[in-house]
Amino acid sequence: MKTVIVTGASRGIGACIAKEFAKNGYNVVLNYFKSEEKAIEVSKEIESLGARVLLSKADVSDPAQVQAMVEEAINVFGNVDVLVNNAGISISGLLIDMTNEQIQNLVSTNLVSQIVCAREVAKHMIGRQSGRIVNVSSIWGVVGGSNETVYSATKAGIIGFTKALAKELGLSNITVNAVAPGAIETDMMKCYDAETKNQIAEETTLGRIGKPEDIAKAVLFLASDDASYITGQVLRVDGGWNI
Ligand code: NAP
Repeated sequence: MKTVIVTGASRGIGACIAKEFAKNGYNVVLNYFKSEEKAIEVSKEIESLGARVLLSKADVSDPAQVQAMVEEAINVFGNVDVLVNNAGISISGLLIDMTNEQIQNLVSTNLVSQIVCAREVAKHMIGRQSGRIVNVSSIWGVVGGSNETVYSATKAGIIGFTKALAKELGLSNITVNAVAPGAIETDMMKCYDAETKNQIAEETTLGRIGKPEDIAKAVLFLASDDASYITGQVLRVDGGWNI
């Protein structure tokens, strides 16, 4: 049975990705940080789907906690086939108002975490000459978002990292791709009022805000055998927003 690690799987897109993999026969390492109750709820849903789940509390911005999480995953399930680097935070505001702490928190939670998670699973995947890494970026990493400069920088960094790591791991039969979501209905969008959300929907070619399922299906595809000749790519899943 294959195993997936999904970071930030207590809520939103990550919870949906974890359930999608469980439905498709994977053991799931369900990482969370602060939302323990929600993570337990998601883990129960996954178990009810007949999959095995390992709840793994770890702050992915802390390399030591990431190392411990990957080690435990391998000890429990024997192998890690797929890493989905999904955990992330958003702090909006003008760059001139951002504090050093906010900048560092964004960079370490959104970017450094993905690099360290990938390093830890890559050591294991290279030994097995097989693996899939899917990094969750954002449309703002592609086009840049005003009021989201540091967030955009972290998400653009993920894209550069994805392409470079794909080149480094290709001969080890490991694919590395990114998904760049547009506006997706989760807690992260709570900062937008109804009017702003309507405006985004109107600006979107498909006329609606996305659902976590829209991203989960794309991530599952990139991890599947059907995507075995796809690497170093950025798949925009944004309903045609900003094209
Ligand atoms: P969300 O609903 O706010 O959920 C964020 C998840 O990340 C939670 O499970 C949270 O866990 C986890 N997380 C945050 N900091 C963490 C840390 N230090 N260590 C471990 N886990 C941590 O956000 P979302 O919308 O699902 O976003 C998921 C990903 O999609 C993010 O990378 C985000 O940037 C990206 N994205 C979202 C949108 C959108 O419109 N929603 C658009 C583009 C890209 P706890 O609650 O347990 O701490």
